[in-house]
Amino acid sequence: MASTPVSTTAPDSAATGSARVACRGLYKSFGTVKAVHDISLTLEPGLVLSIVGPSGCGKTTLLRLLAGFEIPDQGEVELAGQVVSGSGAWVPPEIRQVGMVFQDYALFPHMTVAQNVEFGLMGWAKSDRLARVRELLEVVHLEPLAQRRPHELSGGEQQRVALVRSLAPRPVALFMDEPFSNLDTKLSEELRREVKGIVNRFGMTTIHVTHDQEQALYMGDQVAVMRAGHLEQVGTPQEVFHRPASPFVASFLGVAGFLPAIVRGGGFSTELGPLPGESSFPVGSHVRLMVRPDQVSLRPLTEIGECVVEERAFRGIDYLYTLALPSGTRLHSLQHHEVYYEVGERTGISVHLPSPPVCFEEDGAD
Ligand code: ATP
Repeated sequence: MASTPVSTTAPDSAATGSARVACRGLYKSFGTVKAVHDISLTLEPGLVLSIVGPSGCGKTTLLRLLAGFEIPDQGEVELAGQVVSGSGAWVPPEIRQVGMVFQDYALFPHMTVAQNVEFGLMGWAKSDRLARVRELLEVVHLEPLAQRRPHELSGGEQQRVALVRSLAPRPVALFMDEPFSNLDTKLSEELRREVKGIVNRFGMTTIHVTHDQEQALYMGDQVAVMRAGHLEQVGTPQEVFHRPASPFVASFLGVAGFLPAIVRGGGFSTELGPLPGESSFPVGSHVRLMVRPDQVSLRPLTEIGECVVEERAFRGIDYLYTLALPSGTRLHSLQHHEVYYEVGERTGISVHLPSPPVCFEEDGAD
């Protein structure tokens, strides 16, 4: 059912501080594409949520629904305790008092840095405007560049201006869509550290969309993993990485192998021998155990547990080895750069899993 725009009112607690952002049962389709499918989320004030997932999974559409650039087919969006979309309510984006930062910065090219930051402060007294611009440019160390125009800035500097411009009017929340995508890896890492510091310092409720799992795990107090329009899992970075809800989440957030196993009393039998650990599956169930590369040791060949080195990826400090077990199962092992195996070499292998291990149904969905 489409929600009808009927009222235009600002969120009542909007003038000060960060707000809670929530949505319930959100749906949005474009023709036959279910871009957002039954999504419910709550983000408490001052926290950072990273929405992550593969290209086309609906991240941007979800952010646009929350910001008010899209009208949901069904469901509600709540900002600062007020329903702003759905249930007959509609508050347009410019009234929601949400700061937006986009991938392409979207700075006004004909305005100076200071004028860009000042732009959203039109209702303010001139002296307050200038003080706010000065304060924010100081935070991002851009005061000396206040009179430059965007084309005279580096990508990182432009993104800093875009960030403080969106923070200038004291929004109740900040939404960022792939804010570091146009920057090289080193600058992107530098800037994400800086942005995290700034949003934490301002205690700003922030939603950050990215397809990059490292960024999501770094930036978010909470991480929401999306797949094909729906939420696969929401949790702290540690929860989603170490206790993934599905093989998809496990593989999307980092390198993972899946070792076939049979549940026994107090452990598992596998082709690498018996492994200890409890499982919520009944004894006798066929399951897959998630194995991260830091849980795989390589050692001299013995009777149980051998593999063939299939691939060796040099990553600077370490090598990531891809290993084929006799059954064809592939696991990965992270080894210091001084631990060198040739591709094709046979070696011993053992795994050390957390307790309880992460366990998925053998024939379950990925
Ligand atoms: P990316 O990481 O590539 O930006 P995304 O996860 O942000 O992707 P969305 O941009 O939300 O994904 O798109 C979700 C799906 O909805 C895609 O299949 C996309 O083609 C489709 N879609 C998004 N906006 C529109 C639109 N205005 N009209 C038609 N289809 C759209």
